[in-house]
Amino acid sequence: MARIVMKFGGTSVADLDRIRHVAARVKREVDAGNEVAVVVSAMAGTTNRLVAWCTQLSALYDAREYDAVVATGEQVTAGLMAIALQTLGVNARSWQGWQVPLATDDAHGRARIEAIDGAELMRRLQSGQVPVVAGFQGIGPDRRVTTLGRGGSDTSAVALAAALGAERCDIYTDVDGVYTTDPRIVARARKLAKIAYEEMLELASVGAKVLQTRSVELAMKERVRVQVLSSFDDGTSLGGDLPGTLVVDEDEIVEKEIVSGIAYSRDEAKVTVRGVPDRPGVAAAIFGPLSAAAINVDMIVQNVSADGTTDLTFTLGRADLPRAEKTLGEHRAEIGFLSLLTDREVAKISVVGVGMRSHSGVASTMFRTLATKGINIQVISTSEIKVSVLIDAEYTELAVRALHTAYGLDA
Ligand code: ADP
Ligand code: ASP
Ligand code: MG
Repeated sequence: MARIVMKFGGTSVADLDRIRHVAARVKREVDAGNEVAVVVSAMAGTTNRLVAWCTQLSALYDAREYDAVVATGEQVTAGLMAIALQTLGVNARSWQGWQVPLATDDAHGRARIEAIDGAELMRRLQSGQVPVVAGFQGIGPDRRVTTLGRGGSDTSAVALAAALGAERCDIYTDVDGVYTTDPRIVARARKLAKIAYEEMLELASVGAKVLQTRSVELAMKERVRVQVLSSFDDGTSLGGDLPGTLVVDEDEIVEKEIVSGIAYSRDEAKVTVRGVPDRPGVAAAIFGPLSAAAINVDMIVQNVSADGTTDLTFTLGRADLPRAEKTLGEHRAEIGFLSLLTDREVAKISVVGVGMRSHSGVASTMFRTLATKGINIQVISTSEIKVSVLIDAEYTELAVRALHTAYGLDA
């Protein structure tokens, strides 16, 4: 007998048949004597539609109202899942974020979980009830609904597993584990039986959507045992061989690869600030106001220039581009730039692996491989276990496939 949190993503609850299928899977775990809490995402496509409605009304929408809109997707699936479970004779009830309560900070649209009061859920679990919690949402200090950023239901699930002291947090999705790269782009991607927290964290943060970055951060900090599984196969996760991927400590991985995975992100945009004076304080004048507007900047390059002015290029999340343009426009006089160039047709490609700490040559292999394919590198950034490059979005798939082969990852 164990206490487990089972999280189901959008494609796993995409329609009523999928919801019935998943409910039967939950019932199996309950029948095996486990205490089960369920976390659900919105039905596939729902969140995208809700986000599009907000941005169509205003690119500079009020994030509190955005949250009021986008949190509804998960409310629907939580209720539907509870009904599907009840139909199978399972004692279940739905919970919205504010009912738990799952308290967050006030960063609407990308809120961080601050505390979960698990006491009432724990009593329900112990009395044999299955709580079905709406993922992705919480309640802020302003008593308004908040959402946790795209993919945030993973984080809801891990946080709940920590609050309930669960033995496992099973993340059910539409692929059967974490692969060396997105298996939808590279058919020869290999499934990893285990991946280190640090590598998963880095892969998630550079675009591998299979787990939200914060969910991995939290799992690492709270020592939650996370397993990624498919809700489409019918293998059981009870005992025996684990069919999915387990996220573990680095020292639990015997055969360490130099590069363990490749990720891409098409959610980037590039901004070039042309003709800024080349003197101390200019970077602060540009990035200070962006940071005050809660806009995260990722890669940065500054060019040298002969005539006392320079160009500064940086990348940010594409969704933040309208606000960044507005913010820089408002500070144009202090910064003193000539013009702003923006480009949405860019992609970030990253190679990740803990082996990079002790092996050289990873970056040069990357640059050579891209050069062979005629792909131009616009910006480069590195960390201890990662190298990222920004390229023309058109070459995303070509780059990922070529690198996957170059690092010997093909199955
Ligand atoms: P869910 O709706 O279940 O949360 P997501 O779409 O958020 O599912 O995440 C699963 C998707 O992540 C997969 O369909 C796959 O295309 C993508 N993905 C990207 N990189 C990887 C990777 N390295 N391993 C597995 N899946 C990946
Ligand atoms: N429904 C939300 C999203 O699409 C949260 C999630 O699925 O994890 O981003
Ligand atoms: Mg997801």
